Amino acid sequence: MTPGVQPLIAGNWKMHGTLAEAKALAGAVAAGAGAGAGAGAGLLVAPPFPFLPAVAAALAGSPVALGAQDCHAAPKGAHTGDVAAAMLREVGATHVILGHSERRADHGETDAVVQAKAAAAMAAGLIPIVCVGESEAQRLAGEAEAVVRGQLAGSLPPAFAAASGIIAYEPVWAIGTGRTPTEADIAAIHAALRAVAGPATRLLYGGSVKPGNAKEILALPNVDGALVGGASLVAADFLAIAAAVRPGG
Ligand code: PEP
Repeated sequence: MTPGVQPLIAGNWKMHGTLAEAKALAGAVAAGAGAGAGAGAGLLVAPPFPFLPAVAAALAGSPVALGAQDCHAAPKGAHTGDVAAAMLREVGATHVILGHSERRADHGETDAVVQAKAAAAMAAGLIPIVCVGESEAQRLAGEAEAVVRGQLAGSLPPAFAAASGIIAYEPVWAIGTGRTPTEADIAAIHAALRAVAGPATRLLYGGSVKPGNAKEILALPNVDGALVGGASLVAADFLAIAAAVRPGG
């Protein structure tokens, strides 16, 4: 944790669930937050696009924020299948995850594309959560820090920190695999992120965060929260991760 920086536990629901399940999950997270779970942290959930309005309604009156999983770089136009940042804002989103490794891999998103999307998100009043992280081959070649530094240099627009932009370090090989870097390796990358991002930017770790490892990961220096995939689909697990945040760091 970083003194003076409010931690954030963000759930990335990816392309999972039905509408009924999304409403129930949001309701359970909202109820848990209302009961004080994770009181030391901000909570956020990012459902699939079609479920955003229903999840916004389920979260109404709760402290849980709403995020989307992508946006287009253009404010409007002939972009079939895409969604503009202002549209997300209009249905209640306050944050948007950008440059997730699954989008970089599945949709060929480059750092330049991510940077343009982050700028569009900021222009629409959304807080971007920009994801970076090395592949397993890059980690084994000793290139992890250089890769992440390069992604940051290419993906963050000017004024990112001033717009409260958030960075998520997600080693590609740790996502959905049950494997995590060592605590020393996470701390080393987050120290490098801090040097680039400045003192107030929230730096999340993502990649197989579970209730069983959250306390150790969240206690590391410069780790200001987590981006959680699989474990965010079970309200009790997501809330347990939030409860692992130690108020005050
Ligand atoms: C993610 O995809 O952002 C993620 C961190 O997934 P998981 O927690 O399932 O590894």
